[in-house]
Amino acid sequence: MQTLLTQILDEVRPLIGQGKVADYIPALADVPANQLGIAVYGNDGSLYSAGDAQTPFSVQSISKVFSLVQAIGHSGEAIWERLGHEPSGQPFNSLVQLEFERGRPRNPFINAGALVICDINQSRFAAPALSMRDFVRRLSGNPQVLVDGKVAESEYQHRSRNAAMAYLMQSFGNFHNEVELVLRSYFSHCALQMNCVDLAKAFCFLANEGFCKHSGEQILSPRQSKQVNSIMATSGLYDEAGNFAYRVGLPGKSGVGGGIIAVVPGQFTVCVWSPELNAAGNSLAGMKALELLSERINWSVF
Ligand code: GLU
Repeated sequence: MQTLLTQILDEVRPLIGQGKVADYIPALADVPANQLGIAVYGNDGSLYSAGDAQTPFSVQSISKVFSLVQAIGHSGEAIWERLGHEPSGQPFNSLVQLEFERGRPRNPFINAGALVICDINQSRFAAPALSMRDFVRRLSGNPQVLVDGKVAESEYQHRSRNAAMAYLMQSFGNFHNEVELVLRSYFSHCALQMNCVDLAKAFCFLANEGFCKHSGEQILSPRQSKQVNSIMATSGLYDEAGNFAYRVGLPGKSGVGGGIIAVVPGQFTVCVWSPELNAAGNSLAGMKALELLSERINWSVF
């Protein structure tokens, strides 16, 4: 596996220079583009990594999975009264569908859906940002995981679109807490800084029927874990979930920081990171690396 990971990074490195680092959040635009890392964490506790696997980056939308897992953990099926689990076929920050569908977001991985999930968590936790930070510290086994305050503030300063979605949902009665407070929590989750090893470890419970071995916690039931994987498979990669299923064939979640996490149920998790994105907002080199990995190990859920 170690040799394979190094080989794959060598093969995809030439793609660097052909994508574009996200710049709609100004603090993200400063990230050096030529970075590339990968980590694989097995259900047996084995860990392999290559390249910049230890360099922390902004997890961005990957955090939407953590928020969803927290919400399922305390509220179970009840959350689906507030949002759906259907692919949206619209950009992650679109307002159009939300107006047509009367403030009920299609799924938890578009921004509107993630904001509803944060609203649900806001009603539950006294300090949602701290609960999330502690949750991912336990999941990753890394007590040093931090929120990058500069990124969170930059996102808050440029919050117009996310704020518009939240207020629109409030107008339909699908938002219960103060919008600005929930936005602060949401941006602080997006601004978590984690590296490929942290993320591969933090997602291992989804490859292991909801059980996180290194923290000894049953995070979700096997059924819930399967459900989260299915939403990742259908809606985890923006408007490119179909292409990801076709090319990689694994449940996954990406973020505009350039990270992608993928789950091989029953076996391992893999996190890849390279900041330059393709037109759909997914890491260009990261997508290719996961495609090569799933091909070479001949494993896909399909
Ligand atoms: N914080 C970003 C936003 O709300 C998340 C973007 C992403 O990774 O999809 O726009």
